[in-house]
Amino acid sequence: MKHRMLVLTSLLVLALTAGVSAQTGFLTIGSGGTGGVYFPIATGIAKMINDANIGWRSNARSTGGSVFNVTAIQSGELQMALAQNDISFYAYGGTGVEAFIGKPTRKLRGIAILYPEPIHILARRDRGIKTVADMKGKQVYVGDIGSGAEQNSKQVLDGYGLTFADLGQAVRGSATTGVQLLTDGRIDAMFYTVGVGNAAIMQAALTAPIEFLSIDPMKLRDIREKYPFLSAFGIAAGIYRGVDAPVVTVTVQASLVTSSDMSADVVYRVTKLLMDEKVEEFRGIHSNLERYFHPLKALEGMAIPLHPGAVRFYQEKNTRIPERLLPPK
Ligand code: GLU
Repeated sequence: MKHRMLVLTSLLVLALTAGVSAQTGFLTIGSGGTGGVYFPIATGIAKMINDANIGWRSNARSTGGSVFNVTAIQSGELQMALAQNDISFYAYGGTGVEAFIGKPTRKLRGIAILYPEPIHILARRDRGIKTVADMKGKQVYVGDIGSGAEQNSKQVLDGYGLTFADLGQAVRGSATTGVQLLTDGRIDAMFYTVGVGNAAIMQAALTAPIEFLSIDPMKLRDIREKYPFLSAFGIAAGIYRGVDAPVVTVTVQASLVTSSDMSADVVYRVTKLLMDEKVEEFRGIHSNLERYFHPLKALEGMAIPLHPGAVRFYQEKNTRIPERLLPPK
C-alpha cells in the first residue's frame, strides 16, 4: 500500500513538472474586436493548434488590438498575437507611440507577416467631407482603445496638419460600434486599419450613404516620408459597394507575433503547422490570408527580431533571413 502511494505521488510529481515544461501548456492568442479580421483569424489558428494535438491548448481572445496585444505579450498575459508591423516596431524599440516610450517590449518576437491592413477612411456623404482636411470640427471614430488603428488615424490626420484636438470629437470604442454610429449618422467619419473586405465595413457600405476617401497624392508623399511603415495601397474597385474606382490610401501589414518566453520547440511546431503542414487550411481561414499570405513572402515587412522557433522553420526552408531579424543573443 505504502509502495503504491509512493508510485502515485511520483507519477503526480512527474505530471506536474511536465505541465510547466515546454511540452504542454496554454496558449492565448490576442486578436482585435470581434468585428475585425484579427478575431476570426486568431480563432482559426487556435482551432488548428488544438486539432494538431501538440500538447498545447489554445484559445483566441478579443482585445482592443495591436497596442494592447504587444503590451500583453511583454507582460505574459498573451503568448501569441496578431499585431500591425508598425506597432510591433515602435513597441520593441520603445519609440513612436506614447504608451511605448521608455517601456520597450523587449520580449516581442516575430513569426510571420500575414496580409496588408489598409487604413480605410470613410465619411458620410451628407456631411461635406471630401478629404481628410474637412474632418476639422467633425465627429470622427478614430479606433479602439489599445488599437494600432488609433495610431494610424493620428498619423494620417497629422499628414493634413490636424490632431485629435482639431476634431469635434475623437470617438473611440469597438470598430463594430464605430461602424454602427456611422451607419446611424451619429458620427460623420471613421478611420479603420483592417484587412480589405472587412465584414463590418461591407455592411456599412451596403446600408448607409458612405464614401471611401482617398489620400491626396501630395499628402501621401508627406505621410510616407514621416511614417515609413505606411506604404501606398489601392483598395480595388468592386470590393465595397459604391467603390467604382480604386481608393488610394496607405497600408501597414498584419503579422503573427509571440514572446521570447515561449519555447523554440512550440513556436517551431506552430509555425510549421500553419506555414507548411497545413498551409492550405491556414490560408482558408480568411480571404485575406487566401489572397495575400505566402510562406515565401512572410518576412517582407517584418520589423522585429524573429523567434528562434520561427528562425528554425525559415532556415529549414532555405529562406534568407536578414541579419537584423535574427533574435538577440
Ligand atoms: N489593425 C487593427 C489594430 O490593431 C485591428 C484590426 C482587426 O481587428 O482586424 O488595431
